[in-house]
This record gives sequence, C-alpha cells and structure tokens, in this order.
Amino acid sequence: MARINLDHIRHAYGEKPKSEADYALKEVHHEWNDGGAYALLGPSGCGKTTLLNIISGLLQPSEGRILFDGKDVTYLSTQQRNIAQVFQFPVIYDTMTVYDNLAFPLRNRGVAEPEVDRRVREILEMIDLAGWAKKTARGLTADQKQKISLGRGLVRNDVNAILFDEPLTVIDPHMKWVLRSQLKKLHRQFGFTMVYVTHDQTEALTFADKVVVMYDGQIVQIGTPAELFEKPSHTFVGYFIGSPGMNVLPAFIDGNSIRVGEETLTLDYRPQVAAGAKTELGIRPEFIALSREGMPVSISKVEDIGRQKIVRAEFAGKPIAIVVPEDGEIPAEPRVTFDPAAINIYADSWRVGR
Ligand code: ADP
Ligand code: MG
Repeated sequence: MARINLDHIRHAYGEKPKSEADYALKEVHHEWNDGGAYALLGPSGCGKTTLLNIISGLLQPSEGRILFDGKDVTYLSTQQRNIAQVFQFPVIYDTMTVYDNLAFPLRNRGVAEPEVDRRVREILEMIDLAGWAKKTARGLTADQKQKISLGRGLVRNDVNAILFDEPLTVIDPHMKWVLRSQLKKLHRQFGFTMVYVTHDQTEALTFADKVVVMYDGQIVQIGTPAELFEKPSHTFVGYFIGSPGMNVLPAFIDGNSIRVGEETLTLDYRPQVAAGAKTELGIRPEFIALSREGMPVSISKVEDIGRQKIVRAEFAGKPIAIVVPEDGEIPAEPRVTFDPAAINIYADSWRVGR
C-alpha cells in the first residue's frame, strides 16, 4: 500500500506541444493518502485514463514526477511499481482455465500453492464464477471475462495500489451493484490504495471516500460526495454532479446583496469579488422552494420521476430546474425562494466567499 504523490505532472501526446491546448494533462499536483479510495470522475476526454496510465507506469509524463511513499517511480515499470490494474475491457488468457487465469498473478510471484488455492477460491466466490473454475476462458461471455479481469486485479493483496479504469462498463446493472459493494468490502479489509476511474457520478459517489473531479486536463476539485454536492468549487462541478445539476445564473454582487435579473437576494456574508469580475450564482434544484411566495417564475414543464418532480421553469430570463417532492403542490401563480445558505457565488467560474 502506498501514498501517491503526483508532482507537477503534465502530459502531451504529441512530440512538440505548441500551446496549453495540446496538453492532455495540464497540471496535476496532489498527494493521495495511503489506503484511500479515490474515484476519478469527469467527462469523456478530460484525461482520466491518461492520469491513471501515468500512475501505473504504462505512460511516462512529459513533465513532473510520481512518488510512492516518497520514492520516485516515474521511470519504473508497472511491475516494478507493484501495481494491479483493471481495464475497461477484459485482459485475460483465453486458452487458460478460469482458475489458472486467477492463479497466474500469484504463481508469477512465487506464492505457495495452498495459499494460491485459498485466494483463488475466495475470488471465485466473489465474482460468482466458482462453478466455472475448470472451464477455459475462451467460451465465456464478455461480462464473465471482465469479472475474471477484475478478479485478477484483486487476487493479490500485497500491491501498492489497484487501479481501475471503468471496469464495470460491460457488466450488467445488477452485477455492477454487487461487485461495487464487494470492492468496497475488500478495500476495507485490505486497505489498499484504490483509484477508480468512471464517468458515472453514481458510481463515483457510492464507491469512493474522495472523489477527484477532472475537467479539461485538470483536477478541479477533490472532496467527499457531500462537499462536492454542497460546495462545488467550480460551476462545472456543480453541473456535473447531481441530477439535475446545479442551476447557474448570471449575478451582480454589491456588498452582501446579489442581483439576479430584477430580483435582489441578501447573503449573510460579503463575497470577495474583484471589481469587474464576471459573477454567477449557483443554487441546486433541491434548495429552491416553489410556493405562492417569493420571486416570480414561469413553469415550462413538470417531469414526474417517481419520488420527486422536476420542474423546469424560467427565472430572470434563464432556464432553471426545481426539485419538488412527489406530493408537492404546484401553485397557479408560482413563485420561488432560494435557501440563502445554499447559494454559492462564483467569480469567473471559481467559487468565492464562504
Ligand atoms: P478520458 O479517459 O477522461 O476519457 P483520456 O485520458 O483518454 O480521457 O484522453 C485525454 C485526451 O488525450 C483526449 O483529448 C484524447 O483525445 C487524448 N488522447 C488520449 N490518448 C491519446 C493517444 N494515445 N494519442 C493522442 N491523444 C490521446
Ligand atoms: Mg478513459
């Protein structure tokens, strides 16, 4: 198990990057705790796989260093780094049996056969393939093969870290849920450092103690699911996390009052905004109350999603979403109030104030 330091990492795939835009990773500088469960979350193309491959040693960064427990491993191979990695698609030996596929990483390390057997059987149970142990991997379905890949990643319990790159993409939804909770259990049991790449916020939020949100080659926020929900550092994070995402409205700050369209709201603190900065107000749909009081809105659509209703409306000339409980009333002349404690202020898209 290891503490991982990402020391001013930058990466460009091309030979001679001409501008910042040519960098797949712009500047990643962070320390990840030994034994932490991290989810790397962000839209497709933001650099998650690039960062993961740099941590594993499949890729060397254009600039910067990687340290494991203070030791520079930037130029060491995956094997030398003692890392297990599970990819999006199965990587297994088709001609070997399921059992031998799982035993391989252990035998390769010279683990004694009784211990190999014990570990392999444990993993076979976990991935629900105990009855398939003697079958050749070739005949299995895609999701069974992926379960073997996952098992191969988990079979060793002496690795510095386990890295997962969207490993459950091809697994069916129910099994996904089962495997995710088993991963969590194994993590608690063995305490390995775990980095799990996903573009699915539900997966990230249920799985990790720390969610690392990436956008355009950078880490924009690292936090617990609650921190990301309540205090998104960036309008992008607010929008990307939560469903529907945070509402963002153009705003003008004057001391502790905020003007949005014709309306003025008062905060109990003064956001420190530089003169002339473009400011925005962020508020989650869950923290807007719809009633007969407050500021006028016009409703364009109500989506019933079972336990809640999502109301699409126009406020101060902009579209907003409001989450209303299933039995919530929708008044004929609707008005809204914003919970002042739930208002986030952004200047040039980064959060300011308390
Ligand atoms: P993610 O995993 O978040 O979808 P990637 O790390 O795969 O993102 O990609 C980040 C950026 O780097 C993208 O713009 C992608 O097109 C580019 N990229 C990824 N792999 C390569 C490669 N082998 N050669 C050139 N560009 C690449
Ligand atoms: Mg990827």
